[in-house]
Amino acid sequence: MAKPVCYSTKAYATSSATSPLAATTIDRRQPTATDVQIQIQYCGVCHSDLHFARNEWGFTQYPAVPGHEIVGKVTAVGSGVKKFKVGDTVGVGCLVDSCRTCPDCRAGLEQFCTSMVMTYGSMDKHLGTPTFGGYAQSIVVTEEFVLRMPANLDLAAAAPLLCAGITTYSPLRHWKVGAGQKVGIVGLGGLGHMAVKFARAFGAEVTLFTTSPSKVADGKRLGAHEVVVSTDAAQMAAQAGSFDFILDAVSATHDINAYMNLLKRDGNLVLVGAPEKPLAVAAFPLIFRRRSFSGSLIGGLPETQEMLDFCGKHNITSDIEMIRMDQINTAYERMLKSDVKYRFVIDMTSLK
Ligand code: NAP
Ligand code: ZN
Ligand code: ZN
Repeated sequence: MAKPVCYSTKAYATSSATSPLAATTIDRRQPTATDVQIQIQYCGVCHSDLHFARNEWGFTQYPAVPGHEIVGKVTAVGSGVKKFKVGDTVGVGCLVDSCRTCPDCRAGLEQFCTSMVMTYGSMDKHLGTPTFGGYAQSIVVTEEFVLRMPANLDLAAAAPLLCAGITTYSPLRHWKVGAGQKVGIVGLGGLGHMAVKFARAFGAEVTLFTTSPSKVADGKRLGAHEVVVSTDAAQMAAQAGSFDFILDAVSATHDINAYMNLLKRDGNLVLVGAPEKPLAVAAFPLIFRRRSFSGSLIGGLPETQEMLDFCGKHNITSDIEMIRMDQINTAYERMLKSDVKYRFVIDMTSLK
């Protein structure tokens, strides 16, 4: 395949695991017949961006441009594009392509395709170089992986739906969380605060677990019926054996057995957090009460659109703190201290 013609766009990249992010320019392909070119207005800051920028998962190639909570306006479309036109407001999440023919792709579960192309850190099928994410002025994506944004939602606050939103919506839907169930959410960060909102919207009885006593009031305001400070042994003991389902959205090493013990018989602890180091799972809390320990990865394209439409209908967005592009390194340091209320979103017009 001939290498497509490229144009350059401004971006923020890091050149090593220990370097700060800094301004640069990157190549994007000129839109091909099936591509949509998007001028990025806002990009959310996911903890995965930080794990990736610092090579905590061990597969980062440099220079690295993070960012997979992308919203913006369509500035050009290829001749074969049917779903979008210039001027449309659109979103791009964690995926920009997949094989489209395997059983996972045919089931609309592109996140499990072994040939999926992630928005950053995958091999770009067109350019043969690593994909670059949304900390940039523009991006070019095949139309099948572009999403429609609900017109009624604040666009900046809707950007985090593209990762934090779908990553929490998908497991809650998959395991049919709803009325009559006691559901726990662990960690009030970007993912956790969306999980609290969704679990509440689905009708569950919601308990938030946080290590930050300062987040108790916010946890309730965001939709939790109860908030447990997980460092308080007495508060934890009072919850033993009472949960149907717990979603763990913690970004760092922590004791998951403490949460396993809070499940009822046959209860399920689902991990969406992706800490750098392995978590230790004790056998007894699992086997004595036939509990499950599961994982979940973002969501496929059809479910991501379903989630966006659900958010439009129920007026659900993220609670955000807007930053300029040049504040990203400070934002990462605050994220490491669990000091995010509750998602940073970059105003991409600040990248000049
Ligand atoms: P975040 O905004 O930084 O939130 C993480 C939260 O975890 C913190 O706010 C804090 O909540 C809690 N926490 C942090 N360090 C902790 C520790 N040492 N012990 C206990 N709790 C701690 O991160 P995020 O963007 O929501 O992402 C969370 C994790 O999910 C990351 O690992 C990310 O890579 C991963 N992720 C996975 C998927 C997927 O598809 N599975 C998708 C996106 C992100 P409290 O202050 O309330 O305790
Ligand atoms: Zn993410
Ligand atoms: Zn596939």
